[in-house]
Amino acid sequence: MSARPRLVCASANPDKVAEIEFILRDVVDLQPRPAHIPDVVEDADTLEGNARLKAVAICAATGLPAVADDTGLEVFALGGAPGVHSARWAGDDCSYADNRNKMLDEMTGESDRRAVFRTCVLVRWPDGREVSVEGACPGTISTEEHGQRGFGYDAVFVPDEGDGRSFADMTDAEKHAVSHRGRAFRNLLAALSE
Ligand code: IMP
Repeated sequence: MSARPRLVCASANPDKVAEIEFILRDVVDLQPRPAHIPDVVEDADTLEGNARLKAVAICAATGLPAVADDTGLEVFALGGAPGVHSARWAGDDCSYADNRNKMLDEMTGESDRRAVFRTCVLVRWPDGREVSVEGACPGTISTEEHGQRGFGYDAVFVPDEGDGRSFADMTDAEKHAVSHRGRAFRNLLAALSE
């Protein structure tokens, strides 16, 4: 019998779910989001607000505790953009590559290339209790793409705590050791064990 806490994952994004499963394996019994539950409109103006919208919707639909995360890439020279708008920065139906191209374009000639990836993770229980934690990863925006792995902005983001490789050049374990999502979910595990 498993003593691991059971949480329904509010994300249906296979890239994110694979990372979350990798980080939480052995510790949380992560259940997939039921396919029939429609997507939530993520229109909050903070990462925590969007994570709450997703967790509350999945918790209400399943009657089970739900975990949701929301991530933004904040670029200093762009005044913190794209931030909470990271997913659809290049347009409503944009691809990951569209977003990376926009990033490289907007940062052309810019000498201040500092950026921070930030993730908020929120668990919501059916009785209304919540736990909310954050994880951050400082780094820089590269001048061109590097690496074939990962997703989203990985090929243009070089974490400070690394050896100069982009996230897309790292193995899963290397990325999660320093990443915003790795940190946020480790903070969640610490909060759940309190
Ligand atoms: P979400 O809110 O977690 O879905 O993230 C918003 C957007 O940020 C995604 O659509 C990706 O473009 C980007 N993103 C999120 N996490 C990562 C990551 O770990 N690496 C690179 N890009 C990411």
